[in-house]
Amino acid sequence: MTTALPDRVDVAIAGAGTSGAAAAAACARAGLSVLCVDRGRLDRAGARWLNGVPAWQFREAGVELPAGDELAGGPGPFHLVAGWGPRRVVVDDHDVLEVDMRLLVARLQENARAAGATLVGEVAVRGFEGGRLLTDRGPVQTAWLVDAAGLAGPRLLDQPATAARDLCVAAAFVHRLRDRAGPEDADPDSYRRAQLLTEPASSPWTK
Ligand SMILES: Cc1cc2nc3c(=O)[nH]c(=O)nc-3n(C[C@H](O)[C@H](O)[C@H](O)COP(=O)(O)OP(=O)(O)OC[C@H]3O[C@@H](n4cnc5c(N)ncnc54)[C@H](O)[C@@H]3O)c2cc1C
Repeated sequence: MTTALPDRVDVAIAGAGTSGAAAAAACARAGLSVLCVDRGRLDRAGARWLNGVPAWQFREAGVELPAGDELAGGPGPFHLVAGWGPRRVVVDDHDVLEVDMRLLVARLQENARAAGATLVGEVAVRGFEGGRLLTDRGPVQTAWLVDAAGLAGPRLLDQPATAARDLCVAAAFVHRLRDRAGPEDADPDSYRRAQLLTEPASSPWTK
């Protein structure tokens, strides 16, 4: 069944990824009526991979720390690998959590719904004009607008384009670790051994 869009809300949010869903929850908890839409399916919104997220960001945002399957990597050394080369920097002292973003987005969306926000997928935002959010399912009058549509979004608030020098290239790979004991061992020689025994399970170079 297609969810009808309200005619008028206090807050309209474009994008239901981490930013949009978190904003929807915060605004709904503040007692505002909230509509949050995503051009894709809600269960496909936002980041669909594992991210390294500093724990303080959760605390700052008032979001509970990830647990269970959402916490993909427990506390342990953080490996920064440069390109595809054999070198790496290992950071032991950090508070970066490895988070399954698919589950985090789902949790944030659930928080927003529980707080009373309306989330609707497969609604593309086309623009913002005269206090109205323009979507492919019709306009919605709104007092406040949050553009959480990401880098490729419609830039409803005339945000300046991101300069190329401020962009970084990111790629998602899944590796099969053949020697789990290696990276778990604090001995630097073991890290090298683990590097040699780590092979890409999927990458642009292997089909
Ligand atoms: C491979 C990769 C690895 C990364 N690793 C890390 C990491 O380790 N740590 C870290 O902090 N960050 C990382 N990032 C960056 C991080 O994932 C993003 O900063 C984060 O997902 C941005 O969240 P967001 O909610 O602002 O936007 P997004 O996650 O981009 O969500 C925007 C949503 O808006 C929707 N949308 C777009 N246009 C419209 C429209 N016209 N109408 C309606 N909806 C629309 C999209 O469908 C999407 O669901 C990584 C990014 C990539 C690509």
